[in-house]
This record gives sequence, C-alpha cells and structure tokens, in this order.
Amino acid sequence: MKGFAMLGIGKVGWIEKEKPKAGPYDAIVKPIAVAPCTSDIHTVFEGALGEREDMLLGHEAVGEVVEVGSEVKDFKPGDRVVVPAITPDWRTIESQRGFSQHSGEMLAGWKFSNFKDGVFAEFFHVNDADMNLAHLPDNVSVEAGVMITDMVTTGFHGAELADIKLGDVVAVIGIGPVGLMAIAGAKIQGAGRILGVGSRKALVEAAKFYGATDIVNYKNGPVDEQIMELTNGKGVDKVIIAGAKPDIMKTAVKIVKPGGIVSNVNYYGEGDIIPIPRIEWGSGMAHKTIIGGLTPGGRDRMERLIDLVIYNRVDPSKLVTHTFHGFDHIEEALIMMKDKQEDLIKPIVFVE
Ligand code: NDP
Ligand code: ZN
Repeated sequence: MKGFAMLGIGKVGWIEKEKPKAGPYDAIVKPIAVAPCTSDIHTVFEGALGEREDMLLGHEAVGEVVEVGSEVKDFKPGDRVVVPAITPDWRTIESQRGFSQHSGEMLAGWKFSNFKDGVFAEFFHVNDADMNLAHLPDNVSVEAGVMITDMVTTGFHGAELADIKLGDVVAVIGIGPVGLMAIAGAKIQGAGRILGVGSRKALVEAAKFYGATDIVNYKNGPVDEQIMELTNGKGVDKVIIAGAKPDIMKTAVKIVKPGGIVSNVNYYGEGDIIPIPRIEWGSGMAHKTIIGGLTPGGRDRMERLIDLVIYNRVDPSKLVTHTFHGFDHIEEALIMMKDKQEDLIKPIVFVE
C-alpha cells in the first residue's frame, strides 16, 4: 500500500509499505479524511522526536473499519469511526494510574507517527479497537470528527490542566487550532475574561468567535507587558500555552498570578531547556504551578467530545479553512501546515 512518510529528519515522501494486520483486539481502518498537525511539522522538520526512518505520518483521521480482530465486540467492517490521535495501551500500570497517554513509557500512548506508522496511508492499524475507536454519528460531520481526534481534545486538555474556575481571567498564548480549542474549552469551563495571543487575521477572528474577549498581538510588543497593562498590573489566573518557542515560558510565568497555573499543551520541538524566570517565580516560592501534558485519547474521551459537538457546545468544523479531495493532496496540506499562510487555520484532506 501507499503512504506518506517521514523519510528522515527534514525529508518527506511517498513510499510503499505492507498493509498492516489486525491482532485479536485490533482494527484495520482506511481513512475517509485526514489532517496534518503542527506536531508532524515539529517531528519532521525540527527532528523533535529524534530520527525516524520511513515512518508514515499523520495522527488525525476519520475512517472506515475494514477489518477487525476476533475479540473486537463493538466495531465491524463498514463502521465509520473517529480515530483518536492518542491510542493508549489500556492494560498498563500507567493507564491504571490515570496517565494512559504514557502507557508503557513516556508519551507512548501517542503511537501514530511517533512509535508506529500513522494515518497518511491507504490503511492503518488501531490497537485495542473497542477501547480506542468511537463511532462517528450521522449528525456529526467528518470535518468535526477529524478535528475532535486531536485539536479539540488537546485544546480542551489545556483548559483542564489549567483547572479553569468560574470567572477566571485566562490568557491563551497561541491561537492556532489548538489554542482556539483551548479558548472554547476555557469558556465551557466558565472562564470570565479570555485573552488570546496571536497575530494572523483568520486566527484572531476565530478566537473571538470561540470566546476570546481580548486579543493581544505578540508582534506589537512584549506579551507580558501588554497583558499586565490590560489587567491593571494584576496578571491572569491561568495561562494556557499553545504556541511559540520555549522562551514563552518566561512570559507565562511572569503574567500568571501567585497561586495561578501555567498549563502547557505546546510541543517544544527544539532547545534543551525551558526557562523559568527566578524573580517572577517568587524565587521558587510563588505557588505558580507549571504543568504540561499530552492530550488524552481513547474511546470515552472521543465520545464525550462528540457529545459536546452534538449538543452544540462547540463547533470545531469552523477550524477547517482549506479542504482537499484526493489522497495525493496530503503532501500539499502538510506543507501548508508548515508554512502557515495568513488565512490558514487547518487543512483537511478527503481521501476521495
Ligand atoms: P499553530 O502553529 O497553528 O499556532 C500557533 C500559534 O502560536 C499561532 O497563533 C501563532 O501566532 C502563535 N505564536 C507563534 N509565535 C508566538 C510568540 N512568539 N508569541 C505568542 N504567540 C506566538 O499551532 P497549532 O495550534 O496547530 O498547535 C499548537 C501546538 O500544540 C504545537 O506545538 C503542536 O505541536 C502542539 N500539539 C500538542 C498536542 C498535545 O497533545 N499536547 C497535540 C497537538 C498539537 P500567529 O497568529 O502569528 O500564527
Ligand atoms: Zn497532533
């Protein structure tokens, strides 16, 4: 079968691979639509995970089940499914402890385009299908389904890790698709004021649509200064980081109030150190929590997010700004995700 792969750091291309086989609990799925992720860009072009040779890319897909193992109960060939970016091994100690994202080892719940071949393929393999797939209901669009697999769950996880309380003042740094969903998640959790940090016009408009009350353009001066001014020198209760380079941690720690939380869902593709400013961290005594996490995946998570779409709490299909038809467009869509033109939020590729 054909697939679009990372050939090595900085190199991508189409390759031939063997069609995957399903074990007793697994499924083989063919994609209906896929989307490239900024994480694919960090992985390929920054070598963020280290060397990967001929690994198929992609971890955002809605697909059709073509084969299931003998022990799979709830899915059968022909079913349309939402495939989470994160497909943990549920029979692990880490999962039992509540950190399925790290089942087996750190980040190992993230399999597609990290530990195994991804979804930019004619067929792909899903481990533990009953626990990792979710049915795509007829009243949820394929676009929304694809956005749920990674963008919605990750942005919402940023809001969860920030432990947003009613009336919190929240800064969301980075308003790409992940940051936009962090804004939507913060709003659902009851944030009061939400300050979105970004610059591109399409993102700014979407940020307002999803619930940002203020926009801060990082190109207009230091973000910490702008946010301190907007908050009369008080700062914010919570920060969600969904963009920028490691240095952004300085800004986040500076603007969060004592007792506040900096929640990071950004994937830092480069640099050895993520800096914490000493003075603004109260010389170590400010009760400013810094936490970062890989998004949860799995079936229950997907079904909950699907419900949020069905019951009109969030409409992630608005994230899709560019639609392609034809498998061959995957490369174009991936490069688009790298170049981030002014009007791009997220491209999607329908296989047919
Ligand atoms: P985008 O590149 O689409 O968006 C990034 C945002 O950050 C843009 O709004 C951009 O501004 C802004 N930004 C860039 N530089 C700065 C700066 N110096 N100061 C402030 N803002 C800045 O990314 P995505 O939304 O697709 O993804 C966000 C991150 O989440 C990525 O690192 C991705 O890999 C990661 N990710 C993490 C996951 C997880 O499980 N934790 C899962 C999925 C993704 P502008 O408006 O100018 O473009
Ligand atoms: Zn991703």
